[in-house]
Amino acid sequence: MKVTILGSGTSTPSLQRNSSGLFIETDGANILLDMGPGTLRRMCEAGIDYRDIDMIVLTHFHPDHVVDFISFLFASNYAYGPIRTDPFHVVGPVGLKTFHDGLIEIFGSWIIPSDNRMTMHEMSADSPDSREIRDMLIMSRPAAHSFPSLSYRIEADGTSITISGDTDVSENLVQLAKHSHTLICECSLPDSMKTHGHLTPAEAGLIAAQSGVARLILTHLYPPCESVDIVNETRKWFKGNVLKAEDLMTLDFVS
Ligand SMILES: [Zn+2]
Ligand SMILES: [Zn+2]
Repeated sequence: MKVTILGSGTSTPSLQRNSSGLFIETDGANILLDMGPGTLRRMCEAGIDYRDIDMIVLTHFHPDHVVDFISFLFASNYAYGPIRTDPFHVVGPVGLKTFHDGLIEIFGSWIIPSDNRMTMHEMSADSPDSREIRDMLIMSRPAAHSFPSLSYRIEADGTSITISGDTDVSENLVQLAKHSHTLICECSLPDSMKTHGHLTPAEAGLIAAQSGVARLILTHLYPPCESVDIVNETRKWFKGNVLKAEDLMTLDFVS
């Protein structure tokens, strides 16, 4: 498994930090997790071809996590040059199909993948759920954010990664991340600026410690996170490996 951070930022426009997006490469699949605006451009910068994506996983339907899903669907039908023809999966919370239907009302049939290439998987929004897709296990639990919102765990290649999505303090996230190799955790604002529905560094550190992960990656960083040592703030609880995400950073997994 290899992970590339495509967007470590939020809804705040930033050259340094794009809105949310992760590229997860396993032996069996190329996965995008969340697609905020600018994700497709960051993919170009990282040398990732949108035609090679096998699966898109969406945590929730806030614009900073889904806007480039529209661009992806449009490009998949009408890009200049060879378009993608391979089937792909989209995983999201219950409401995913309604969300796509709403987009079709606005954008029309342009964003309906031709030849039934897209298979949608709706995960429970209020209880633990899981799917086996292309040699990997995808597990989800509800996040403490707007409804519906999910945190995910992906197990593949003998290792595992948990992604918090947007969330506040959550026992669901602790349980989902139990003994994951890596937790990619939202960390919206420093400890002194706690906001409902999001995590601070100390809270992210406590979740990492309680779940026993080996590595914690802090992401979904609003601008105040640049002027505070947020890695140090996690140290109150977590003594493992901590990294502040940067766009286009890659993470290797040695199991
Ligand atoms: Zn967000
Ligand atoms: Zn959100």
